[in-house]
Amino acid sequence: MEKQVIGSRHKLGILGGGQLGRMLIQEAISYDIHVHTMDQNATDPSASIATSHTIGDIKNYEEVLAFGKDKDVVSVEIENVNVDALKELEANGVKVFPQPRVLEIIKDKGLQKQFYLENDIPTSAFELTTENTDTAHYASKLPFVHKLRTGGYDGRGVELIRTEADLENVFKAPSLLEELVPFEKELSVLVARNERGETAVYQTVECEFNDANLVAFLFSPADISQDIEQRATELAIDVINKLEMVGILAVELFLLKDGTLYVNEVAPRPHNSGHHTIECNITSQFEQHLRSVLNLPLGSTEMIREGAMINLLGEPNHTGLAKYEGLMDVMQMPGVHIHLYGKQQTKPNRKMGHITVAQKDIQTAKRIAAEVKGKIRVVTD
Ligand code: ADP
Repeated sequence: MEKQVIGSRHKLGILGGGQLGRMLIQEAISYDIHVHTMDQNATDPSASIATSHTIGDIKNYEEVLAFGKDKDVVSVEIENVNVDALKELEANGVKVFPQPRVLEIIKDKGLQKQFYLENDIPTSAFELTTENTDTAHYASKLPFVHKLRTGGYDGRGVELIRTEADLENVFKAPSLLEELVPFEKELSVLVARNERGETAVYQTVECEFNDANLVAFLFSPADISQDIEQRATELAIDVINKLEMVGILAVELFLLKDGTLYVNEVAPRPHNSGHHTIECNITSQFEQHLRSVLNLPLGSTEMIREGAMINLLGEPNHTGLAKYEGLMDVMQMPGVHIHLYGKQQTKPNRKMGHITVAQKDIQTAKRIAAEVKGKIRVVTD
């Protein structure tokens, strides 16, 4: 008989203890799924609400192995984890989703791009560079985008190299050199797949980034034609099927002026571009991730509200104990939902929380979101 996974104190282990793990736990509670997290600090966002929080290094083989061995299912909320330990756990009968072989491809931006090339998934032209690639070669490629193959996150590890003067910023480590794409919009499509191979896809959203490459605003739905919506959706399903991945996948896309869509990169976990689904869709991305990794029926992705999401980022020049300015004001605005991640310390551009504005129409959501953005600041005393 199939083991009952909900309402049964099923043990789910999550590598990473950040806000994504925290929001996953908020949904897991409804299903009485016990979530155990592992990360570096006792103050991690998931620590105070996880069934247990193990202090450990998610990149360390022994520590990941020890953490995972008594779990029924192990998943991640960040891809930069020790994949060898996950392979070992998988060989020992622990379910690991997304699968270690998928994490291995995705955590290395070079392997990820090669995967797209080999599987006819449209993506920008690229080449791999090393610590020995010389300046003359880089100069011949201007302008381009340089990305560390591993370890980059939230815009760290990505450099726009436009001019000769920028050449001093190239990474002296294995990296990916991509043509600079003159995109019109950055889109994202969330798609989930369970072990039975069933898929469920969310409506495409549109992201606006700040100077530090962090999402400043997200709009759902994206302002795109039906044709583009359909092609973006098909592309996301194609990517998850070709990866044969189990879990939720965020597929980040570039839309070019002529309607071309390129896959920029993917994230095999809940993602910043899906936070609005908590209030705006029948099934949130966090619940959907749980449903997919536990091989449950996938939930409806139907949009019930249009919305805008604003990341609450630490203000420049403020490092220390966090204080939120303007919370009382924005709480009075219609359709505003506040999410704070429980991080005591703020620093420039740290993701401290997010606010979703859920409305009947996207225009109203955008207007209120702009007002919210003008009123709220994460500062120190
Ligand atoms: P991260 O893993 O940090 O999210 P991304 O690969 O998504 O890194 O790059 C961050 C941002 O940099 C993108 O959202 C986009 O704005 C810009 N960017 C990345 N690749 C390109 C490219 N080839 N051409 C133009 N802009 C790019």
